[in-house]
Amino acid sequence: MTAKKTNDMMDKIVSLCKRRGFVYPSSEIYGGLGSCWDYGPLGAELKRNIDSFWWDAMTNRRDDIEGLDASILMHPQVWHTSGHVEEFSDPLVDCKTCKGRFRADKLEESRCLLKPSKTPLECGGELTPPRRFNLMFKTFMGPVEDESSITYIRPETAQGIYVNFLNVKNSSRQKIPFGIAQIGKAFRNEITPGNFIFRTREFEQMEMQYFIHPDEDEKWFEYWREQRWQWYKALGINMDKLRWHEHEKDELAHYAKKAYDIEYEYPFGWQELEGVHNRTDFDLTRHMEATGKDLRYFDERFPEKFIPYIIETSAGCDRTLLTVLVDGYDEIEVKGEKRVFLRLSPRIAPIKAAVFPLVKKDGMPEFARNVHQQLKKRFKVFYDESGAVGRRYARMDEAGCPYCITVDGQTLQDETMTVRERDSMEQTRMKTEEIIDFLADKVRG
Ligand code: ATP
Repeated sequence: MTAKKTNDMMDKIVSLCKRRGFVYPSSEIYGGLGSCWDYGPLGAELKRNIDSFWWDAMTNRRDDIEGLDASILMHPQVWHTSGHVEEFSDPLVDCKTCKGRFRADKLEESRCLLKPSKTPLECGGELTPPRRFNLMFKTFMGPVEDESSITYIRPETAQGIYVNFLNVKNSSRQKIPFGIAQIGKAFRNEITPGNFIFRTREFEQMEMQYFIHPDEDEKWFEYWREQRWQWYKALGINMDKLRWHEHEKDELAHYAKKAYDIEYEYPFGWQELEGVHNRTDFDLTRHMEATGKDLRYFDERFPEKFIPYIIETSAGCDRTLLTVLVDGYDEIEVKGEKRVFLRLSPRIAPIKAAVFPLVKKDGMPEFARNVHQQLKKRFKVFYDESGAVGRRYARMDEAGCPYCITVDGQTLQDETMTVRERDSMEQTRMKTEEIIDFLADKVRG
């Protein structure tokens, strides 16, 4: 895709998000804050639905994974032990011409400050040699602001899981292999955030750490790659737009023995959506050495104690949200008019159905409001009686709502309504009870 088409597509997504209340610039009335975004009414629902879809797949539908919600602020020593204080940095270059600061390994994603249509590779500016820049945000804990009160705002949720390995194992009585799943905010002082919510300084991660016997790492690594691939399929993503990228030796993080990214083809190119990592016994070994606590595992099936290996699946909620928006965005001509369709899966769509009376008379609004009341007990549904029915369909199509239910003249005779499917535009007549079963089936999958 050309730079122009990329920008057009991203501009359309950003504009749809603002118009329909998916995502707004943070602190907008103050001029916004770089790379910070707020989720509006539809965005907040969509994000919760993505979180729940992940949580459901990872915990509710499995017996071997427990949930956790660890605090964002952790003992500062954790970040020394994990290697983040020393190693969690990106290479940074300065441009002597435009005074911009860019990530040296992502120059093709960055824009020159003086010539925004060009990357720092193309604009002719002189770049300094790369130097390391630590991505962790620091803050002070307590009333005294000195070296001894420095704490870090977590750059990943994973460490909260490692330090709770013993707690969860003991309280849940899980046996290896088992996992711990967590959804939570992470913060990174990214050098070049951008591409809307793709790379931000505050974001949400959906991470799962699976504790295994070291002899079985290859098997579980492959297992989790397959599980995560299938999850995106169930999410309704166009699978032709996903691919695997294996990390070469020089790309591997300091803790990883093997790593694969699931990449999506965004308008700005193929980029990481999720990482699956074999972290070996690196994390538990380091925490054991630092704390003196025995984090080795034993049960009667094994001849001796061992430090579990960890297979990690690490996905970004905001990035997944951007992915479903980009993937579902469609523009087509309906009756000579350009219309936007957001083809979100019913499983994650912010509004599952809209209920309309065809006209505002003959008892149709009363019937429709009653149906809305009944559906509301089970699903997020929306009632709309204003404007021509075609306009109402159009508003719901671009909000990603998969079904529109219309009460018409026939409803008053046989209690059936039309259920119009967003993507096929097909209409089927159903009674309220049938609609409830139909929606339950589509939403649950
Ligand atoms: P990148 O190479 O894009 O900086 P990473 O390899 O540092 O990402 P991980 O540390 O593996 O990313 O984080 C796991 C997931 O968290 C990523 O796949 C992504 O979905 C999400 N993520 C990481 N950094 C950000 C960010 N700055 N903004 C939004 N999501 C992020």
